[in-house]
Amino acid sequence: MDNRDRIMRLREEMVLPRADFAELLTSMSKEDEEFLYAQARDVRESVYGKEVYIRGLIEFTNYCRKDCLYCGIRASNKDCDRYRLSKEQIMECAQIGYELGFRTFVLQGGEDMTFTDEEMCAIISGLRKGWPDCAITLSIGERERESYEAYFAAGANRFLLRHESVTPDHYAGLHGGKLSIDTRLKCLKDLKDIGFQTGCGIMVGSPGQTVEHLVNDLMFMKEFGPHMVGMGPFIPHARTPFRDKPAGSLEDTLHMLGIVRLMMPEVLLPATTALGTIIPTGRELGLLAGANVVMPNLSPKQFRSKYTLYNGKPATGEEAAESVDKLRAKVESTGYRVVTARGDHAGT
Ligand code: SF4
Repeated sequence: MDNRDRIMRLREEMVLPRADFAELLTSMSKEDEEFLYAQARDVRESVYGKEVYIRGLIEFTNYCRKDCLYCGIRASNKDCDRYRLSKEQIMECAQIGYELGFRTFVLQGGEDMTFTDEEMCAIISGLRKGWPDCAITLSIGERERESYEAYFAAGANRFLLRHESVTPDHYAGLHGGKLSIDTRLKCLKDLKDIGFQTGCGIMVGSPGQTVEHLVNDLMFMKEFGPHMVGMGPFIPHARTPFRDKPAGSLEDTLHMLGIVRLMMPEVLLPATTALGTIIPTGRELGLLAGANVVMPNLSPKQFRSKYTLYNGKPATGEEAAESVDKLRAKVESTGYRVVTARGDHAGT
């Protein structure tokens, strides 16, 4: 079987034997890549047409109790200039976003326990009351099941929690051996059980990652059935232990996006900011490889540069909500178009 056969088989059966995934990930020619992306576009268009969903990202706190080795806002980074947005500031971001056409708000932050369940629920209820036609996505890390239940009851709809690597040794290696993938997977299972549209994901090219790990992640995603998959290249941050590690590649990331689209036709798949950081046209290429979501930043300008998970993360330009017009034009250059819609998972 050659790679074209593998791609067609993946499209038809929505999964491949492990050995074929590994072969595909390691031996794609330029022609194979183009074929993969064309199939992925065809599948995404059969489900979502030409529409691209935009999510308004509100980075509301860069405090974090955890110490993930790859992350610029890890607790040990004493050079990180920390901030928290107040509930009022978050509501202002949402108002600006709504006027700009956003119908999903993504509340993203480190694991900042200053935001108690009560406080999180007050923020979520405020957003739900103020903008009832919008979806509310949380990306705030690991909490107890009861906390997740409270957020859902308060009106949150979606939750992003990248699993980072389903391979225990690799997961431990990314987290200084302090965290367990079991906890992560329990959180993901809880979130899905509760009724959240749930997102998992990985960094492509993270330190220590092998092709076997990537295949494990694909198999996990197939089995778990996430509504969203967040996947961008690993990019080192200067104030982390991984500062000297090489970044993940554009090609490997695009391959994974194309494969995930064929494996899960209805999945919501962002062309990530990280992809747009390693190459200026990265997000457009992501859309052309099967992605259908972009997440511009709605956080107040003065805080954006402080939320640096990796080096080179843009703090101005297209990340500014005021530049949504520019973003629309970029998306349109791919033949797709940004729409004002909640953009729920097609199967929900
Ligand atoms: S990746 Fe998330 S949990 Fe880990 S240090 Fe960064 S913000 Fe905290």
